Amino acid sequence: MSDSTVFYKSCFLCPRRCNANRNSGNTGFCAETSELRLAWAGLHFGEEPFITAAGGSGTIFVTGCNLKCAFCQNYQISQNGMGAPVDSNTFVKICLALQDAGAENINIVTGSHAVGTLAPYLRIAKSAGLQIPVCWNCSAYESIEALTLLSDVVDIWLPDLKTLNPLMSEAVFAAKDYPQVAKHAIRWMTEHSEPEFTTVFDKQGKKHQKMLSGVIVRHLALPGRIEDSALVLDWFEKHADKRAYLSLMSQYTPVPFSSEEMKKRQNSLNAFQNRFIEQNEFDKLQEMLESYEIENGFYQELVQDTEWLPDFSLIQPFSSELARPIWHWSKPSEILS
Ligand code: SF4
Repeated sequence: MSDSTVFYKSCFLCPRRCNANRNSGNTGFCAETSELRLAWAGLHFGEEPFITAAGGSGTIFVTGCNLKCAFCQNYQISQNGMGAPVDSNTFVKICLALQDAGAENINIVTGSHAVGTLAPYLRIAKSAGLQIPVCWNCSAYESIEALTLLSDVVDIWLPDLKTLNPLMSEAVFAAKDYPQVAKHAIRWMTEHSEPEFTTVFDKQGKKHQKMLSGVIVRHLALPGRIEDSALVLDWFEKHADKRAYLSLMSQYTPVPFSSEEMKKRQNSLNAFQNRFIEQNEFDKLQEMLESYEIENGFYQELVQDTEWLPDFSLIQPFSSELARPIWHWSKPSEILS
């Protein structure tokens, strides 16, 4: 029996445990059947320096999501179903095309609801010649069963730690249990991965540190809820520092949703302030990072513009300096160059 059959028959892949029979074409909260659907793949140059390194990260964006944050900038693909079905042959072709294009890793973005298919497809890709590390870029709303299924194919874990406030997680993505689940998942990741790096050089001869294995925990501070970030930093310092890196992000960007989209989300967005992070909040975040004496923490500069918001209806959803497309859902049988 294949992995996907076991997990998807009465789906218990993630903590939502919807019991939907996805093998028969039914769907649960993530809105996806057992068929893997992807939206975009390409080189991405805007990830953390260890992940982007010299050649860029080989990102593969999966359609659907088991969390569905109200503020999601990728809502076209995570919540509105934009994407195309992909079989194992096409998946392997995409991975190998990214590797040939110089990708430093394969970076699977938001695949938690599709582990039953992605784990065997990644195994096939590795046996077909995929040698670069595989990075699991997720929300941390994962069951230990799903993580175990990935343990032999994933090298780098890149989980979010969105909030440790259950009232916020309930309001923003309808998962009051998120704090407990995410802490458990991240501890599992740190126990199953040792940090390992190598040095690579770009075309100009500049040196970059590249992660081969390890854990980077991302935390996106929410405007008006900076005190919630203190809970995250406190937990990280006590339970994950020295075994994982912390990437503190301050680029919360209010998505210009249509009025119809906004109606669906307004209550959830009211749980914080749907605006950019202000300078005084950014300064406070930096102070907090220093006061917690987190050894392996870094932060991104304050960004206050919407220009980099992706549009996945386009073959180039990002700015051209930030990404190079290799595959797009609108041309599913083509590898782009
Ligand atoms: S993966 Fe999807 S269908 Fe399965 S339990 Fe999670 S949200 Fe529900």
